[in-house]
Amino acid sequence: MRQGLGQGVCLVQLRVAPAAVGAAAFMQTGLAQAATVLAVRLWPANDYTRVTIELDEAIQFSHRVVENPHRLVVDLAGIALDQPLRELVAKVRADDPFIDAVRVGQYSPTVVRLVFDLKTAVDPQLFKIAPIAQFRYRLVFDLHPTLAADPLAALLKKMQSGPAQPNDPIGQILEQAQAKDNPAASTPNVPATPGVASPTPAAPKPTQRAGPVVRLVTVVLDPGHGGEDPGAIGAAGTREKDVVLAMAKKLRARLIQLPNVRVLLTRDEDVFIPLAQRVATARAVNADVFISIHADAFERRSARGASVYILSEKGASSTAARWLANKENRADQIGGASLMHRNREVASMLMALSTAAQIKDSAVLGKAVLAGLGDVGRLHKSDIEQAGFAVLKAPDIPSILVETAFISNPEEEKKLASQAYQQQVAEAIFKGIQRYLRASGLRSKS
Ligand SMILES: [Zn+2]
Repeated sequence: MRQGLGQGVCLVQLRVAPAAVGAAAFMQTGLAQAATVLAVRLWPANDYTRVTIELDEAIQFSHRVVENPHRLVVDLAGIALDQPLRELVAKVRADDPFIDAVRVGQYSPTVVRLVFDLKTAVDPQLFKIAPIAQFRYRLVFDLHPTLAADPLAALLKKMQSGPAQPNDPIGQILEQAQAKDNPAASTPNVPATPGVASPTPAAPKPTQRAGPVVRLVTVVLDPGHGGEDPGAIGAAGTREKDVVLAMAKKLRARLIQLPNVRVLLTRDEDVFIPLAQRVATARAVNADVFISIHADAFERRSARGASVYILSEKGASSTAARWLANKENRADQIGGASLMHRNREVASMLMALSTAAQIKDSAVLGKAVLAGLGDVGRLHKSDIEQAGFAVLKAPDIPSILVETAFISNPEEEKKLASQAYQQQVAEAIFKGIQRYLRASGLRSKS
């Protein structure tokens, strides 16, 4: 399409033109007006790195991947090189897992070319997002790693847990993966647990088992929002995506102290993860418990307290619950889920599966967690509520969504931002999970 790329000639000659040249060129070529770049954002993460270009109007773009070395070349049409685009160059972080550097230039009077020098081969997904919420027109370039040879093993590597139990093949894969990464210590990040034999990579022989085997329990924690999607923002600027991640990490630290519990976070950094992918992660690791963590917001600033939601098959339990589910389900549009292969597959896989039994189990889990939250603070609603939350749709996993407090309430916003309160909420959910595990016979001791 664009000549010279394959030879790398034009890349070498690529030069950053002064802004005035771009603007003048538009006038000379008679193009009515160039689109204006409003903001450029970079979201480096281990899952994938995202580049967002936000504009005042829609523009056309094309891209191609060039190898030896790995590069992604993107041409933006109908646009002049302006200041926000230039700033993209300085926004690349040295520790970005995928991008080494970006070069920006006015390729022709009406085309700006971005060249991403990559650290590794990527599977790029580029798409446009129509204006929504606080955003105008967005171009999004997601740089995913080319598919891992074994996606399950990759997931398991991110999991934090106690030592593997004799009847736990997944735990053994996990330990082997950790041992490979860190031969000196086969279970990093795991506090020493008194009374538990040190793990061995090989499966112990059945004859070594003494007494009844306590089954391993997998808890998946889902901090809401992330990356482009800040979630609700309090009057003092506290962002839902930050406080829920902090609480999820505190809860994880608490849970992995239990010898037979392992924990996976759907995100443990500031990255946008589509709702269907969060559900797919929980299913991939056979989660016993899925807990999505959020902070509520409402126009009425006096609204306060924690609440717990589960899925509903037919209609919401209240207008407020329906309103909230619609709001949380917009995360994919606000955060910018690509409609490309992966998400579409995951979404269709989840549809039309029966959820009746799941809802029953989720109610037991929800009530247990609500009771835990009631012990440490005020409840917004004294019973669990139901609505069609997309993130709770794993048909085989008890799933709840916890609105920990109202970030729109000035007093609760202050609390949510404090480490002490985050710890209290983590402790409350922890107690609820324990209560649930005991009630369902999954765990009897702590
Ligand atoms: Zn939320």
